[in-house]
Amino acid sequence: MGNLVTNVADAATEHPDQTALGFQGDEWSYRDFWGQTGAFASGLAERGFDAGDRVAVYLPNLPQFVVAFHGTLRAGGVVVPMNPQYKSREIEHLLSDSGAEVVVALADLVPFVEEVRDETDVEHVVTVGGEADAGTPFSEFVGDPEFETVERADDDLACLPYTSGTTGQPKGVMLTHENLGSNAEQSASIVPDGIRPGDKQLGVLPLFHIYGMTVVMNATLFGGGAYYPLPSWDAEQAMGLVEEEELTLMHGVPAMYNDVINQERAEEFDLSSLRMCGVGGAGIPVEVLRRFEELYDVQVFEGYGLTETSPVTHFNSPTEGRRVGSIGKVLPGIDARIVDDDFETVPPVERGPVDEDAVDLDDITGELVVTGPNVMKGYYNLPEADEGAFSEHEGKRWFHTGDLGYHDEDGFFYVVDREKHMILTAGYNVYPREVEELLFEHDAVADAAVVGIPDERRGETVKAFVVPVPGSDVTAEEIKQYCLDNLAEYKHPREVEFVEELPRTTTGKVQKFELVERDQGQSGQ
Ligand code: AMP
Repeated sequence: MGNLVTNVADAATEHPDQTALGFQGDEWSYRDFWGQTGAFASGLAERGFDAGDRVAVYLPNLPQFVVAFHGTLRAGGVVVPMNPQYKSREIEHLLSDSGAEVVVALADLVPFVEEVRDETDVEHVVTVGGEADAGTPFSEFVGDPEFETVERADDDLACLPYTSGTTGQPKGVMLTHENLGSNAEQSASIVPDGIRPGDKQLGVLPLFHIYGMTVVMNATLFGGGAYYPLPSWDAEQAMGLVEEEELTLMHGVPAMYNDVINQERAEEFDLSSLRMCGVGGAGIPVEVLRRFEELYDVQVFEGYGLTETSPVTHFNSPTEGRRVGSIGKVLPGIDARIVDDDFETVPPVERGPVDEDAVDLDDITGELVVTGPNVMKGYYNLPEADEGAFSEHEGKRWFHTGDLGYHDEDGFFYVVDREKHMILTAGYNVYPREVEELLFEHDAVADAAVVGIPDERRGETVKAFVVPVPGSDVTAEEIKQYCLDNLAEYKHPREVEFVEELPRTTTGKVQKFELVERDQGQSGQ
């Protein structure tokens, strides 16, 4: 079974001179990296840090994030990753709920920590970059690079990321060493011949989110490859890094792929060093995937997962075949089912993806449930949330993903939409994803999102927010007619609004509640 710490220790012995990290022209070998994680762990230990204590990491993608993450694990601690876009209000809950005693923060973000410090257990603030009024600079915090790693059991907590869910405060997701290690190992083995020394991975997916943390950073280090962090997303800059450093692997959320193909210079990028690309976090519109593959002659493999499953449960395999439009097959050692409300398995279709106009999706879809070594221990201090998320069947503890999907006889799974995004209009179910896929096929559409707007007569009405391609003079009527021509009447958007961009999370998900709220604000309701 994979263990993140012992695996890096082995890499530092087996190939100490291989590059582990590359940033802005500098490189750190596995030997250097191991020493740095030891130095950070020593810094914690010298200040009385004990096994199980929490370190909040409040940084963009920087080498210090990687060092603090692995150093905390070596000291026996638990990492609490925090989105560097968060302000004091948002971090207060994470810091007080997790009980973090140490915060590693970008100097610019230290004031947000100081603002809420009294409400939390924070004792030490470690600062990165720039000048901060409070705290100890990272370089002064660290101690002796020779550090004896504190051993932890598979079942001990390693990381406590927070996930928003639908309502209320973000919930802490308890991920153990086994959860993270097994998923990093599996993520590394998805790549043909595995990730290996000499591989170079683009690290632009945020490290505070499980996708960037496990599938990009930890899988790369697990395989002995080199991780190239980039602190923020800029398509031109990221593709420039791929070209310049001849990176071999990259992962992105669909919005990133869409950004790349919509760049003015899109045709000029030379991405021929890439041997595989991965996508997940949201469903990638088929058109976006095809265009990227056409432009750069590299295949993009879609996978699926959640924070609660460390994250990957499904992946299209480069070696065993893929199916565009599918999230792939379930990974070895993980079990997944599509179930109805009574936990009966919904029968598979013969072969997907189905023609969504020819079948009634309601007949073939159910909730996707999973079980495996990557499934979280539970939500932190929230037994009632655990009760809603887990159920026991046939001696196994199943996690309910809240995603609706179907499967086929070949073992491929398909996510139709999130349960909470489904639109109920005049008694019909509309899955926004289906309408969005169609919109992406329209030449004048650069980006699109479909939501349900409260409507007195129909319950909800379908509305599309569309970002037009620059220079296009497409009209709302044309978009509506195009949908009417291609979809059952009840699915077509009765309202189309053009916007400059869509509100997205840093991990690429469209914030649909914000679109609905905005719409309601406009209509004065
Ligand atoms: P998070 O916990 O932020 O990683 O979000 C997990 C959610 O992202 C899942 O429950 C899905 O709704 C969505 N998701 C992830 N990957 C995919 C995918 N390939 N297709 C559709 N939805 C996805």
